[in-house]
Amino acid sequence: QRFSVVVVGAGPAGLTVGSILRAASVDCLVLETETREFIEQRPRAGVIEEWAVHGLEKRGLARNLLDRAELHTACEFRFDGERYRFPYGELTGSHHFVYPQPLLVTDLVREYADVRGGAIRFGVRDVHVHDADTDRPWVSYICPGTGELQVVHCDFVAGCDGARGVSRAALPPERVRIARHDYGIGWLALLAEAPPSTDCVLFGCHERGFAGQMPRSPEVTRYYLQCPPGDDVENWPHERVWSELRERLGAAGVPPLAEGRLIEKRVLDMHDYVVEPMAHGRLFLAGDAAHLVAPIAAKGMNLALHDAFLLGDALVAWLTTGDGSGLDGYAQACLRRVWDYQEFSQWLSEVYHGTAAGDPFRAGTALARLRRLFTSPTAAAAFAEQYLGTAARY
Ligand code: FAD
Repeated sequence: QRFSVVVVGAGPAGLTVGSILRAASVDCLVLETETREFIEQRPRAGVIEEWAVHGLEKRGLARNLLDRAELHTACEFRFDGERYRFPYGELTGSHHFVYPQPLLVTDLVREYADVRGGAIRFGVRDVHVHDADTDRPWVSYICPGTGELQVVHCDFVAGCDGARGVSRAALPPERVRIARHDYGIGWLALLAEAPPSTDCVLFGCHERGFAGQMPRSPEVTRYYLQCPPGDDVENWPHERVWSELRERLGAAGVPPLAEGRLIEKRVLDMHDYVVEPMAHGRLFLAGDAAHLVAPIAAKGMNLALHDAFLLGDALVAWLTTGDGSGLDGYAQACLRRVWDYQEFSQWLSEVYHGTAAGDPFRAGTALARLRRLFTSPTAAAAFAEQYLGTAARY
């Protein structure tokens, strides 16, 4: 078999790259270890930045999103027993889109495979990228069902297989630098079958630990509770979850939380990494395969889309006109935004978690950062830009 591009991984990054290639009639194959049903239901992100939606729209990938996404123009911090609404829409004229990741992935698979006729194999095993440093790379995988080994020759490989993928391993270790940061904390990530108790994202900065509420839809709400890293979800029965959420998100005059059945419960260990360079020969990494940013500032999927726009456009330019400038500058162009978002997430982590650090100095400075957002218009404007991802021209 031969395709111009093999895309490893059918997440937001891989499917966006594939859809951009298909729109330019480039033949490509997407390989995915899970089933279509699984990836269309895997709950994760929900907050998409305005520039990312425009990027999808420009490439014909945002029709359903624009019809169905909710627009968010404010978030609310709760600390010191009070609530503080932060109207970032009024400050900047910009907003967030809230559109659950499974809906976006469903739209992207449909567009790539059913509308644009892209080839995709689900349920594959043992994917390996070979000879990435030559101009004839190839990818091998085992077919589901038959167990047969398949070999696909190609011009380029897009490694979009997320944090646990295999394409990163095809980079020679002596040429790669992996920068890591471990926050030393965990977040219990929850999905509740309940409407959000307010119309916006809530951040509770409490001495018992951080708590967050992220509306996903009128029926489902995401919550987070800070917990020890590696904590066992069995330590978090229904009653304990809701009592901690009530405590940490409590403030004078707030409506009670709308409680409901917990349909997802998992512990995320908060850490970040960045792989540099993001490319080796004909292999280009995109999204979580190249950089993970803890979901503190809801940035990961946005970065995955940013990479995918740049990589998709650069591959099309090379394959259709021989213009290699996009591929040459790809990693550098991605990494400017990646590092900016990593820095903001680290800054925000101290705001969220400083009050519970057991260190009165860190608690004092975390509260000072919070108060500054509501007393200094300059600090508020700077925060809004970072939070919305409009801070800089990258
Ligand atoms: P993935 O979505 O991980 O896709 C990779 C794909 O590759 C998967 O389908 C996987 O099955 C497949 N795969 C893996 N290994 C192989 C292999 N060997 N061969 C073939 N295929 C393979 N981000 C935001 O921007 N906003 C948010 O609000 C937000 N909230 C989040 C909440 C949670 C609880 C979590 C966990 C993450 C959140 N994120 C958020 C981050 C976001 O979900 C990720 O950054 C995003 O999914 C990255 O997309 P991707 O395409 O790079 O990788």
